[in-house]
Formats: sequence, structure tokens, C-alpha cells
Amino acid sequence: MKKHNFNAGPSILPQVTIEETAKAVVDFNGIGMSIMEISHRSKDFLPIVTEAEALFADLLDIPSGYKVLFLGGGASLQFCMLPYNLLEKKAAYLNTGAWANKAQKEAKFFGEVVEVASSKDANYNYIPKGYTIPKDADYFHITTNNTIYGTEIRKDLDSPVTLVADMSSDIFSRPVDVSKYGIIYGGAQKNLAPAGLTFVIVKEDILGKVTRPIPTMLDYRTHIKDGSMFNTPPVVPIFGALQTLKWLKGLGGLKEIEKMNIEKATILYDEIERNKLFKGTAVEEDRSLMNICFVMNEKYAALEEDFGKFAAAQGMVGIKGHRSVGGFRASTYNALPKESVQALVDCMKAFEKAH
Ligand SMILES: *Cc1c(COP(=O)(O)O)cnc(C)c1O
Repeated sequence: MKKHNFNAGPSILPQVTIEETAKAVVDFNGIGMSIMEISHRSKDFLPIVTEAEALFADLLDIPSGYKVLFLGGGASLQFCMLPYNLLEKKAAYLNTGAWANKAQKEAKFFGEVVEVASSKDANYNYIPKGYTIPKDADYFHITTNNTIYGTEIRKDLDSPVTLVADMSSDIFSRPVDVSKYGIIYGGAQKNLAPAGLTFVIVKEDILGKVTRPIPTMLDYRTHIKDGSMFNTPPVVPIFGALQTLKWLKGLGGLKEIEKMNIEKATILYDEIERNKLFKGTAVEEDRSLMNICFVMNEKYAALEEDFGKFAAAQGMVGIKGHRSVGGFRASTYNALPKESVQALVDCMKAFEKAH
């Protein structure tokens, strides 16, 4: 049976990414060796990194003065690396959920952290607004897409201080005005590549301002200087990322993929609103295009487990909600086809008819 992959992460990738990576793992470029068996500094592999960096810059329209880095350690290591490099005295954080909290917790090892606002009071079902960012903060940190709660900051915010963003789960889902950010980072395993790759887009002139010594591997300048080749980068995931970037370019870029993402999300949100059994959990104006969270209406709460089983029997995979929200979460990342969204909607309609 066809599987409809709604996994939150690692998650669905374009078919072409999987097929091209599989080929390169067997025989890379016809050289008679696997991509896993050659030097990351070889003439066969170096163009992969260069092309991936160039496509990052092209698709996101990255202005000059920025560098794209391919590192290991996940978004979680960035929670620490970022304040290590940027936090001299004080940093500002917007608390929009579990990942935002984890980021904030690491920053506290390096200096004062001001939580400018939080949506904890409503289990993070909205994005706080109307807060004040302290002008003497070294930077302001946001999590643009809150993977667990299905909320998203889809506008590039104005900040009086350096804006930094965890875009793990919505990178490349829409055009971004990179010039508004000092750093954009994320784990690649949600919307770009197999797990193991961390991307960092960093504005060079924000670095070198803290007085503390920074260990070599944790200093962004090390990786800028060596073009992500200070040590062995995650070779296969970088190859995978390049295939996804080419796929995005072939689709027509980020304006196009954004249109497709809006279309897919609208189909599902409309059904959640229409269907008497379900209701969405995130407030409408802050709803994510990438992670769509919904629960049973109170009256039908007892049917939750049954719907999960019913949907699984029709090929839906990974729609169980995160334990801190409950209910269901359909992740509708770039690579998820519209047909899968339609299949889930059909499932919801059929289940409604039966009850
Ligand atoms: C998944 C996720 C992370 C954690 O990423 P790792 O690469 O596993 O460290 C951080 N932030 C957000 C928004 C995520 O969705």
C-alpha cells in the first residue's frame, strides 16, 4: 500500500533526493567507488559543497557578506555555539515552545538571558506579539517554526538588535529576507536532507565581538576560513541536500514552493474546520504551513485512538501528535505531495461519515 509520510523529523524527502543519493552511495559519478569511500577534499566531492553553497545563496537570495556553513551537531549544538560566539552580556529570546526553551537554556551558560515574551500560558498555541526587544541585547533569538505546536512566524521580523533564527523545520519553505538576520541555522533533517547535517547562514561582520576565548571547533570563523572543511563534514547528507536544492530550483524556487505549501496547508486546515470531529490547536493567524496540529472535538474525544488506527490502515504514517499537545500532527514539508494531503482529508471525511 502507498504510504503517506507525515513524519515530523526526520521526514519525507523528494524522491529524486533519495534515488540520486542511493546511486551515489553505490557508485559516485561513475568513479567505481561509493561517495562514502572518498576524501571530502577530493576533486570529486569538492564541487558538491561548492554547488550546494551556491544554491543556498541562489534560492534564498543571500546578500554578500554572508557565509553558508555545513556542520555537524544538529540545531541542538547551535543552541550553544550561537551564544558562545555572540553573547557578551545579554541576549533576548522569544519563548514559543520546547525548542525555543532549549535554545534559551544553553544561552544562560554564557550570560544574561531576557525572555521578551512567552506563549507558555496557552501551551504555545500562538506567537506572542507586542513585546519589547531590549536595545542593549547582543542578539534576539526566535524559532520561526514550532514543530511541536504547529505555529510559525512567517514574516521576517524587524529587530533593533541582531536577529538570529532557528529555521530547522521551515527552511526553504518560503522566501526569506536574509538581510534581516545575523544568523539562520537548523538541522537539515526536516526539510532538506538526511539527518547529520546542520546548516548555518552567518553574517560575517557580527563575529569576533565577544571577549571570551572560543574553542576552535565551536568558532564560526574556523569553519568560514576553511569553507566547512576544517574537519570532515557530513559528506552523504551534503550530497542529499544538494539534490533537494536542485529539485527546489527546478520547481521554480521558493516563491513556487511557498504557493504549493499554502495550497496543501489550506486543504487540510479547511477540512479540520469543516469536519465536526476535529478542531485545530493553533490560533489561526499563527498557524504553521509545515506542521498542522489538530485534536478531536470534545464530544468525540473517545474516538481519538480509533481515528489513528483508521488512518494508519489507509497508509497514513506519523500523524500522532507530540505528547505535549496530543491528538494529531500532520507534517506537510516541501516534499510531501498534495495527493498525500488529499488522502488524509479523504480519511477524515470517511471517518466522519462512519460516526
Ligand atoms: C527538530 C528541531 C530541532 C532539533 O534539531 P537537532 O538537529 O535534532 O538538534 C531544533 N529546533 C527545531 C525548531 C526543530 O524542529
